[in-house]
Amino acid sequence: MTVDVAYAVVGAGVVGLAVAERLAAHGPVMLIERREACARETSAHNTGIVHAGMFYETGSLKHRLCIEGARLLHEWCDARVVPLRRTGKLIVAVEPADLDGLERVWARAEANGVPGMRRLAPTEARAMEPAIRFAEAIACDASSVVDQAAYGRSLESAARTAGVLIAYHHTVTGAEPDAEGFTLALRDAGGAASTLRCAMLVNAAGHGAPQLAQAAGYPLDGDARTPAVRQRVNRGRYYNFATPDLARVVSRPVYPVPPGSADVQRHQASAGGLGLHLSVDIDGVAHLGPDTTWLPDDAPLDYRAEDDAREAFLAAGRRLIPGLQSDDLVPGQVGYRPKLAPADGTPPDFSIWRDRAYVHLGGIESPGLTASLAIARHVEALLS
Ligand SMILES: Cc1cc2nc3c(=O)[nH]c(=O)nc-3n(C[C@H](O)[C@H](O)[C@H](O)COP(=O)(O)OP(=O)(O)OC[C@H]3O[C@@H](n4cnc5c(N)ncnc54)[C@H](O)[C@@H]3O)c2cc1C
Repeated sequence: MTVDVAYAVVGAGVVGLAVAERLAAHGPVMLIERREACARETSAHNTGIVHAGMFYETGSLKHRLCIEGARLLHEWCDARVVPLRRTGKLIVAVEPADLDGLERVWARAEANGVPGMRRLAPTEARAMEPAIRFAEAIACDASSVVDQAAYGRSLESAARTAGVLIAYHHTVTGAEPDAEGFTLALRDAGGAASTLRCAMLVNAAGHGAPQLAQAAGYPLDGDARTPAVRQRVNRGRYYNFATPDLARVVSRPVYPVPPGSADVQRHQASAGGLGLHLSVDIDGVAHLGPDTTWLPDDAPLDYRAEDDAREAFLAAGRRLIPGLQSDDLVPGQVGYRPKLAPADGTPPDFSIWRDRAYVHLGGIESPGLTASLAIARHVEALLS
């Protein structure tokens, strides 16, 4: 039996789209997506920051692919007129007790070769963000904010131009390996079943990655041959500001380091995120969030905003904006991080590996948007 396509890529988030576009130079590609269009799950529910790379373990995939990806993403957006604002970002020690944490971020940025880092004199920092309370700040000029939806559409268009066939409304429900690759079982939105034979299977299914890996024969907790594919779900909620003045309270993202002398990487590993910060979207509107809540592994991805974290957001917001009132906040978007959870508590890295005709992309949480084009090149290299 011959194969239908050389490559089947499952998941049309920004990562699957970027991978499919890249692989089209090497053979016929089918991109399969259960939703009605591209970038509907994590790729649509995030902060949209093009990260510069100072928050990741030195030498990790997150570090290396973030730095390479940020460069590629800036070039991509310039070439394809995808809206991107070069805002830079501030990282702040809110209290003098947090200065150790700020120094650690600086040291990590140096070790990671992050471009555009600047120590700021207090007067300069205050002039940049006069409404924000902090003891000391450093700037990173290399961070930007991207229009995630426009970026997703540009990837889809580039993938189609490169010859990628896209099957929306199709869920991959099975993956039977054989000597020539895989036979995939598909189900469309109306419940009709079909099969697709591929020589190589790339699992870029985000929250669906563990299930697909299991269907392809890989155990959830790994074995002697392959790593664990189990992922945990960590919800991130945002609150928006109710008044136009507060919606413009900052002109760039502002990240407080964790209170006290906590290490950002360890804090991220245990809490699941960087901690509540102020972000700015492509329209220049400020948001507070995302927070972090661990959910059961099979939690549904419910993107409706609930007003159930107002007090926690108010307390975190007041650290930065002392006059903030409860009425100033309105619930915003919700996103879900697909997270690996190493048993030893170390900060989880992206888990990208190949086993024969299968490529796994696991734990593609932040900075996955930033790194997407670099992840695609990494996968291309794994397959070459
Ligand atoms: C709260 C939050 C904030 C974030 N902020 C940032 C940020 O500021 N900067 C940054 O760089 N990154 C950020 N990220 C991370 C970034 O959004 C993700 O890393 C990135 O979007 C992952 O893209 P993806 O293509 O891997 O996953 P997804 O976008 O989730 O795509 C996976 C796709 O696979 C499909 N799928 C799943 N199973 C199947 C199946 N069996 N058959 C067919 N299709 C299937 C899904 O429908 C989905 O469309 C953030 C994430 C969160 C949650």
